Amino acid sequence: MNLPDMVNEFYRHFPESKKDGVMKFIFLPESKMIMVNDKIYNNKRKAHGVCIPNDKTITLNSTWWKRETNNWRKLKVVFHELGHCELGLDHPSNVFANEIMGYNINLVTDGSDWDYFVNKMKRKVK
Ligand SMILES: [Zn+2]
Repeated sequence: MNLPDMVNEFYRHFPESKKDGVMKFIFLPESKMIMVNDKIYNNKRKAHGVCIPNDKTITLNSTWWKRETNNWRKLKVVFHELGHCELGLDHPSNVFANEIMGYNINLVTDGSDWDYFVNKMKRKVK
């Protein structure tokens, strides 16, 4: 699954969010990405993705993207960033919550739980 397929998958689940046009995606190397506090693993690391709503742009960490071989983890980040920008969702108040808007970078490793997490995300959208 490549990036356009992942983005299409998001809009298939959340068609209403496509009304104002789709988000643009750009790639930047890890050195250009902002630092984030990883509350699950209690360390600072470079962000995998960042969403700027006013620019309708999501920036992905190209270094991580090339290194990560698991498409489910990439899909989680794509959904997470689109969740911020297209659905207006925030991070859960419980940092350990297992959900797409949560911090767990290893939330999904295969497709078996994917529908469960997407449905959980749908319930948060008003
Ligand atoms: Zn986030």
